[in-house]
Amino acid sequence: MLSQQDYEDAIKYNALRQNFIDRIDRGGTAEFVFSVNYCSNGLFWRHSRKIMTTKSHWKEYYFGKPGYKSRLSVYPGSFNINFHPSFVDFCSTLIFHEGSHARDNFYRNFGVFNSRPHAMDIEGSVAFELFSELRAIDNQIRNFNCDNSESFKSRVERDRKRIVRELVTLGW
Ligand SMILES: [Zn+2]
Repeated sequence: MLSQQDYEDAIKYNALRQNFIDRIDRGGTAEFVFSVNYCSNGLFWRHSRKIMTTKSHWKEYYFGKPGYKSRLSVYPGSFNINFHPSFVDFCSTLIFHEGSHARDNFYRNFGVFNSRPHAMDIEGSVAFELFSELRAIDNQIRNFNCDNSESFKSRVERDRKRIVRELVTLGW
């Protein structure tokens, strides 16, 4: 079982990070996730504000085929006690946010866009990305528990409000 101390050690020592990630129980998302890699290389990522990303399989992306697992990347920005004060916050982003994107990719679940005849046409559009983000954030919020820190929870709630505002601005 990983602990808050393991997380804080991984914040301190770069070399522990991939091992820390590998030991996280991915729960139900394991079936949608091919790999989780720590991307530490170079100054670029060190100064990037990127936290984690989910990359779908190329067959899913280009041909719209369901059933492919995604690759998750974890950037140095996620090992930050201000961004993820607790180990559980880190897992919230990894499992419930990125894991939700991976599940969407796997099932090609486009939410509101599923009912549209030409879902491919809007894939990659701003609204498409915002709705995808909204689904991931809602999944994260649904899975918050008392071990999540208050500051993290309120930032995710703020992100949600910002996304909804942007969608309204776009006319949704
Ligand atoms: Zn996201």
